[in-house]
Amino acid sequence: MRLPNRVALVTGASSGIGAAVAQALAADGATVVVNYPGGSPDAANVVVKTITDAGGRAIALAADVSKEDQVQAMFAETIRQFGTLHILVANAGIQQDSPFADMTLAQWQRVIDVNLTGQFLCAREAVREFLRRGPQPAMGRATGVIVHMSSVHEVIPWGGHVNYATSKGGIMQLMKSLAQELAPQKIRVNSIGPGAIKTPINTSAWSTPEAEQKLLTLIPYNRVGEPADIGGLAAWLCSDEADYITGQTIFMDGGMTLYPGFATGG
Ligand code: NAD
Repeated sequence: MRLPNRVALVTGASSGIGAAVAQALAADGATVVVNYPGGSPDAANVVVKTITDAGGRAIALAADVSKEDQVQAMFAETIRQFGTLHILVANAGIQQDSPFADMTLAQWQRVIDVNLTGQFLCAREAVREFLRRGPQPAMGRATGVIVHMSSVHEVIPWGGHVNYATSKGGIMQLMKSLAQELAPQKIRVNSIGPGAIKTPINTSAWSTPEAEQKLLTLIPYNRVGEPADIGGLAAWLCSDEADYITGQTIFMDGGMTLYPGFATGG
């Protein structure tokens, strides 16, 4: 167990990558807050039950990460129940795709609000708590750890998804600037940049053999990733084994960022 007794909050944890991250952190000993955006708690409760059935500790808390009051209430409730917070995985994200000329301001704004402003709001509340609590050596070498869920699209441009790619490019500078500012306080801030991972956000890209075959032309390692791939990386990145890593994006993409089109020429 690499995260015994740590308190972790994972946003957007009722499905996909967030659910796998929550399970991986819990398997390493962390108590996990499974955030979901409101509405039915059923999916979040399934994730909580999976964790508790395996002997772990978790609760579900609702908050739309783009809403300041809801984010603050969620962090306050976490601290009320568990005393403090050691780990934030800011994972919640959405796509609202459109050719650029047809993209509405609402589509642009919602994706920026959830994917970028949501990460700012959650990171700010986490940092406030880390600074309030101060070092707690029994809970790891870092005073606090933040992992932002970015994407290969923080570096790979993505036509038809300009709002999404812009949000992920923004996360890169959010993460690096935070890491630079907060390293002296022993707060580590990094990103994970997933490539194609089988989750509800991109079902159409892998759910038929034809679609998966087309997707694989972008992945030199020749398999589509699974949420558990990212879960394992997140747990390691939050642990003392990664204590000297801050300000980095770790791409986990089967080689998608290796410009596979150049493999046989260029
Ligand atoms: P997903 O749709 O399963 O997960 C997104 C989660 O965010 C859902 O649980 C959803 O309920 C939650 N969410 C949406 N809006 C929210 C809000 N306002 N407040 C709180 N929660 C909200 O898809 P996923 O693939 O697991 O996506 C998770 C993260 O991984 C996203 O940031 C996404 O951009 C990123 N990502 C995914 C892939 C991939 O291939 N699946 C690749 C790169 C990056």
